[in-house]
Order: sequence, then C-alpha cells, then structure tokens
Amino acid sequence: MPQTTQSQVPRVGFVSLGCPKALVDSERILSQLRVEGYAIVGGYADADLVVVNTCGFIDAAVEESLDAIGEALNENGKVIVTGCLGAKPGVVEAAHPQVLAVTGPQRYEEVLDAVHTYLPPRRDPFTDLLPPGGLKLTPRHYAYLKIAEGCNHKCRFCIIPSMRGLLASRPVGDVLREAEALVSAGVRELLVISQDTSAYGSDIKFKPDLWRGGLVRSHVQDLARALGQLGVWVRMHYVYPYPHVDKLVELMAEGTILPYLDVPFQHGSADVLEAMRRPAHAENTLARVSKWREICPDLALRSTFMVGFPGETERDFEILLDFLTEAQIDRAGCFEYSAVDGASANDLPDAVPDTVKAERLERFMAHQSAISTARLATKVGLSMPVIVDEIDDELGAIGRTEANAPEVDGQVIITDGHLLTPGEIVEATIDDADEHDLYAHVSLDDDWD
Ligand code: SF4
Repeated sequence: MPQTTQSQVPRVGFVSLGCPKALVDSERILSQLRVEGYAIVGGYADADLVVVNTCGFIDAAVEESLDAIGEALNENGKVIVTGCLGAKPGVVEAAHPQVLAVTGPQRYEEVLDAVHTYLPPRRDPFTDLLPPGGLKLTPRHYAYLKIAEGCNHKCRFCIIPSMRGLLASRPVGDVLREAEALVSAGVRELLVISQDTSAYGSDIKFKPDLWRGGLVRSHVQDLARALGQLGVWVRMHYVYPYPHVDKLVELMAEGTILPYLDVPFQHGSADVLEAMRRPAHAENTLARVSKWREICPDLALRSTFMVGFPGETERDFEILLDFLTEAQIDRAGCFEYSAVDGASANDLPDAVPDTVKAERLERFMAHQSAISTARLATKVGLSMPVIVDEIDDELGAIGRTEANAPEVDGQVIITDGHLLTPGEIVEATIDDADEHDLYAHVSLDDDWD
C-alpha cells in the first residue's frame, strides 16, 4: 500500500462514474482538494488514497461501480466511496467491507472529512492561501477558486517561491470550466485565490482559450469578466497595486465582479517595502488607491500588514499609520514579523526588539479599529445585498455584505432573518454598526409600502 510522509504532498486518485450531475459533484470535491493542497494523480499506484464517485441508477451501473471499487481496493487499498451508490452503504459494505468510508451524493463535506481523516492535508500556516481555519469546509454556497500556483517575486520574508516554485498559471479554460461546475453545484460566491492574482497568466503569455464560443485570454481582467458572466459573486484576493489593476476596478464599478480587493500591502513606508523587496514597491500606492476609489467609490479594501520588519524605524511605523488613514483601509490584518527558516530577511541587520513589535502591533490595531468603526458607521441607514452564511437560533441570520469576505472580515447580523436560508442573497437595511460588524433587518419590498 502506498505510504505518505508529512514532507510529501498528499496525493488523491479519483474515479468518477455516472451522469453529468455526478461529474459536477466530482469537480466540486476535486476543487476543494486542490485548494487544500492535495495533488490529484492519474494512477492508483501514485495515489495515497482513492475516492470513487459511484453511480447506482440501474443494475449495470451498480455492477460497474462495485467493480471500480474492487479494482481501486486491489490496486491501492485505501478507498473512500461517494455518489449515488453511496446512498446505499449496505450494498457497498456487503461487497467490499474494507472501504474506509461511504458517503452519499452531494455529501461534499462528508467525503472531504473522510479524506482529511485518512489522509490529513499538509498545513503550513505561513504559506497557505486559505484563512486560518480554512480546513473548516466552505459551506456549499461559496468556494475558493485557485487560478495559479507559485510566485515570481522574491519578498525577503517569504519562502513560497523556493517551496512552491515560480508562477504556474492554470489555463483560463480550465479555471472557467471549474467555476461553471462549482456554480452548477450550488456555489453563489467564488473567491479567486493565488499567490499573486494580478500576475495571473504572465507565465503562459496570457494564452487565450475557447470558452462559450469566444476567445478568453489567461489574464486577470478577461478572467474576471468571464467569471462575472456566471451570475454569482466573484471576489478577488491577493492582488498587487499595479497599474493594470485599474481595469479590474472598472469591472467592479460596472458590477461585473464584487467591489472588493484584497491587496497585501504589508507596509506603507517605501523604505520598508523596498527592504522587503515587495512587488510594486516603487508604485505610488496611495495615488493608485485614490484612483481606484475614484473609479469605484464603493470599493472595499482588505489588506494585511507586517510590523517590526528588520530596520523598521518609529518614523516608518508612523508612515504606516498615516497610510492606513489616507488609504482608508476597510479591513486589515496585522502580524509581527518573525523569522522563517530559509528566508533571506534573516540575514538583515537592525532587528526590532520583540517588545517594540508588540507595542506597534497594539497601536496598529487601535488605529485601524477607529478607521473601521468610522467607515462602518457610514453604512447605517443604507440598504444592501447580504449573502446568508448561517442561521443562529438567537441572533438571526449571519451573513456578509459585498464588502466582507468569509472567515476573515466582519459579518452582518440580520436580526429578523431566522427564516432565511444559507446561500440566499437578500436586501437588508443596516440599523447599527460597531467596530467590525453590522446589524440589519430584511428590507421590505417597496411595493409593500
Ligand atoms: S509575492 Fe512575495 S510574499 Fe507573496 S508569495 Fe510571492 S514572494 Fe511570497
């Protein structure tokens, strides 16, 4: 039986049988596995575990499915069964008692739970693109769409390029087909991720692909426009402030994709950014942000920052606080710099003492919190679409506006939303706001007045 060690990328083999609906289920499971860092392999021998998505529609399909499970068990030994035949676990277990787990059709969460149990993903909090807790499965109504692997930059605190290699973009046709499958499976919001989304396609010379009868370039702008045709929310993460991003913001102003940009600025001081060797460090970022806000006044900006990078002075830190104020960053995460094995920043002089790092982090959070509170207060009285994530018996519906990404940003509590359903997008009127969250009620249709 194949063995895996923690140093290897966990590899999953996948057998997909049955109708187009089963194929959509397979796509949804495969997408999630890829996002979580599993490699999908073609042969039984290369896989650490095999998932068989079965069909149970007619007797012949049941036979074919049981044969496929038997073959996977013989060739690999570790098999998880899902799909229509999985709705009859007794039939599967009677024929093949050695299977690790049996789950029914559209039971994505259960299949993935079983994969996590028998083949844990390799998690690296530093390099993972998913938010902390990303292993908690995304509910069915949103999904991460990974468009590229690796990175061509050389930020001094980062080891991703040496771990994951140079930028390798997926052809746009593959990405769009995966997105279509996710939407067919019920996804209402796509979260586009990669290490550098603004660089998407530059490694494959923006190669065009056929999609829905036309040519689409493997370029972030074309990709965004095409994703916008799928009729779901499309949210962009990890975009750098390059001039061509202005065009992406135009698509936000048109309503093609959400007016939301996650830009990991990391700092506001040009000297620190240069020392970090950040992409686009020579750009006039504040001018860029002000242009974006001119193009799309509703734009919400999310970012992450780092304090205490070697050589950061008190003056640099104050420039960073001024940057937050000027750029009016809506959402920000902040980390204290810490050395990572293999990163070139480890050799830099002028380390910032831990006590200073901690004090700067605290000042950063207080400063940003005041900005966030003031920005959210301007939403009170407005009506806006909210996507429902979950229902809480006491609070009501918990959801997000277009300005909030799941798991990392604030929430909207719809206090009269107990009867709404997760995944539903409703119009809500904002009644109150605090530091991070909004409180709302469902807006009544004008016709009811
Ligand atoms: S842009 Fe910089 S921080 Fe991001 S993955 Fe590339 S090298 Fe690392």
